[in-house]
Amino acid sequence: MRSILGINSEELRDILIEKGYEPYRVRQILEWIYDKAVLDFYSMSNLPKELRNFLSSNFSVIPFDLATYAQDEETIKFVFKTEDNLTFESVVIFHHNRITLCLSSQIGCPIGCKFCATGESFHRNLTYEEIIGQYIFARSYVKKDIRSIVFMGMGEPFLNEENVFRAIDTFIQELNISPRHITVSTSGIPRGIINLAHKHPKVRLAFSLWTPDERKREGLVPLANTYKLEIILRSLKEYVSITGNRISVEYTLLKGINDDIDDAHRLVELFKDVPVFFNVILYNPKDRDTEAYKTSVKEALRFVDLIKSLGKEAYLRISKGERISGACGQLRTAYERSR
Ligand code: SF4
Repeated sequence: MRSILGINSEELRDILIEKGYEPYRVRQILEWIYDKAVLDFYSMSNLPKELRNFLSSNFSVIPFDLATYAQDEETIKFVFKTEDNLTFESVVIFHHNRITLCLSSQIGCPIGCKFCATGESFHRNLTYEEIIGQYIFARSYVKKDIRSIVFMGMGEPFLNEENVFRAIDTFIQELNISPRHITVSTSGIPRGIINLAHKHPKVRLAFSLWTPDERKREGLVPLANTYKLEIILRSLKEYVSITGNRISVEYTLLKGINDDIDDAHRLVELFKDVPVFFNVILYNPKDRDTEAYKTSVKEALRFVDLIKSLGKEAYLRISKGERISGACGQLRTAYERSR
């Protein structure tokens, strides 16, 4: 069934007029969805009963079902099942007074990073409706407003640029989310980085880097063979000159691979003339085979301190939701294995 999220207000207006309803009903419907996150047409109490019947028989609000979820005090992770029987994830993160939604942009990921569960397969891009649907669903579930969005879930957002950019427009224009509270995280697609700078200069950019060493990177990120660090770096500098924004570099520590003193020096050297800060992340193993690559908190703090002593800002980010398969793609993988 077609999701109403993909119908723009002009088209919806035409549909309603053709059925004999007043144009102001469009605003009412959109308010129920965008302002109140109501997922069921029958609950839209100021609409006539026949209109509710018509909408329910012809459209859905959310274009997927909730397959499973896991929850702890700081995190809720959802696995959704699409109409074509595929699954993907979203994560809601509670941090002090802020609620952040981590969105997926693809089902699986074609980049195929070696240490990422999501990268083990790729099916397709998420549609615009499926991206916005994650937000409406999450808000309806938590029954609180969500004012912070990060595209850090499954997939490479810049390989689904059209739908991601359209969703960003909706977040800003329909849902009144500040562009400064939206972050797009990329593994390094230069064209997408530049397009973001031009189309959404206030939206934040995160660059996810597994290692500053080009040769090691080729073994960890198949995409590295297409986009060398030098080319990505050039696009990051152009992004900064267009937007004036600092970039966050997401650096996941892998014991014995990218977490020694040389790596910290190389990282700082690589970004010496780019305004960045480092979010150093503890690896959340994707399976038993990768357990051994977990750097301890003590070693991670030493790594962060070293970066700081070399003149760059750095933070240690403890991955939330580890107990509930919090790393990208894990709960979905567990669900898929159980089906
Ligand atoms: Fe894709 Fe990101 Fe996983 Fe790499 S780390 S495979 S870019 S989702």
